[in-house]
Amino acid sequence: MNRTVVITGAAGVLCGVIARDYAESGDRVALLDVNKNALDDAVAKLVADGFTAKGYVADVLDKGSLMVARENIIKDFGEIDILVNGAGGNSPKATTFNEYDKERVAGKPDFFTLDKAGVDFVFNLNFMGTFLTTQVFAEGMAERKDGIIINISSMNAFTPLTKIPAYSAAKASVSNFTKWLATYFAESGIRVNAIAPGFFVTNQNKTLLFNEDGTPTARTNKILRNTPMNRFGRPEELLGTVRWLSDNAASGFVTGVVVPIDGGFAAYSGV
Ligand code: NAD
Repeated sequence: MNRTVVITGAAGVLCGVIARDYAESGDRVALLDVNKNALDDAVAKLVADGFTAKGYVADVLDKGSLMVARENIIKDFGEIDILVNGAGGNSPKATTFNEYDKERVAGKPDFFTLDKAGVDFVFNLNFMGTFLTTQVFAEGMAERKDGIIINISSMNAFTPLTKIPAYSAAKASVSNFTKWLATYFAESGIRVNAIAPGFFVTNQNKTLLFNEDGTPTARTNKILRNTPMNRFGRPEELLGTVRWLSDNAASGFVTGVVVPIDGGFAAYSGV
């Protein structure tokens, strides 16, 4: 569709699939990630398939690196039409071992022993990583009064998940910030929406979902019991919603929404 699309976390599983979909639609895709090797691999595959894609190593928590990336992207591809704020995730350093206080185990992380640095890291990655990136890439959009921003929230923004308080709070803040930005930019030609994926197996959550021997954890069984479709999502199942939100002809009056793509998880009470 001949647009310039910037995607953070683009060397990851979900955003890698999203990047390829934009490329297949004829867009110029700027892939941003902090992991240079994974980024080089992702870009090389797209370029080998004949698509217009380029990688930019940038840290969504380092505004300077984002500004350098912006300058290079504009030089390479022209003004930015779409921003997907995909970088994010949880960390074992912000994860309790127990689900409930009564199940505390000596020597294992619980709410009282969670390390501030781990909590800061996860909260900042998801919230500040969206905030700073939007500051950098929405500026040109506001000047031109034209742009589309898609954030990535999560199921735990609606109702927190056990064990991951920082990730849950951060994604709730991403949903809230999506609405704030949508309002702020409503008359500046920028639409801001979010997708809220349910459960997809990717790098950032696989240790919570599968044991080292590959068997499902108790948490996986609980997730599937609470997902009416009784399976994990496939990354490709995000694409229809991303395409819709990226298309002014189809969603021109849609801003500030958070769309669940979750096999029914958010609809089910558990009973
Ligand atoms: P992933 O781990 O495969 O990808 C995340 C990518 O972000 C990685 O390539 C990583 O290098 C990059 N990244 C991490 N820190 C960064 C930083 N500071 N600057 C730039 N890039 C950085 O995970 P994923 O599941 O594909 O995650 C994509 C997004 O989807 C995340 O925001 C995640 O929170 C969200 N999400 C995932 C699920 C799921 O079930 N997998 C559910 C809901 C939301």
